[in-house]
Amino acid sequence: MSIKEQTYIMVKPDGVQRGLVGEIIARFEKRGFKLVAMKLVHATPEHLEKPATDYADLKGKPFFPGLIKYMASGPVVGMVWEGLDAVKTGRVMLGATKPLESAPGTIRGDYALAVGRNICHGSDAVESAQNEIALWFPEGVTQYSIANEGWIFE
Ligand code: UDP
Ligand code: MG
Repeated sequence: MSIKEQTYIMVKPDGVQRGLVGEIIARFEKRGFKLVAMKLVHATPEHLEKPATDYADLKGKPFFPGLIKYMASGPVVGMVWEGLDAVKTGRVMLGATKPLESAPGTIRGDYALAVGRNICHGSDAVESAQNEIALWFPEGVTQYSIANEGWIFE
């Protein structure tokens, strides 16, 4: 448990097209997380299939070709958010993978109806977050302090 824990959050192509980038950023900002890296990129299938991504484990699943086509269909916004329990809390904020099971109040529960168009990605474990951050931000993240830290953490 560390207030320096980092997670990789990515607005998928459908989230960008639907104008939800600002909404998703706002939720993480308001929750108290610190933005330490962000970029808009149009990823290639080769990049998306690299072993460091959460998607590499899904090779062989029937939906995998469609997933890669979808993720490479337009730009995505990749971000690194830092704060206490960033990985687990990020997943809770995203909501369940299947929108049918994602609770209202979560990003997917508020904005998505189909599992194959579920708006946003979030790392599923601290180790995969580290791998994904290294893959999407080989240049590293930006360290800085925010003035209200003492009002967010004990
Ligand atoms: N996915 C899909 N069909 C499925 C399961 C997953 O299209 O039956 C897609 C969906 O976009 C999901 C992504 O594959 O977000 C990665 O799946 P994972 O199980 O890692 O879910 P996540 O970690 O995104 O909740
Ligand atoms: Mg996953």
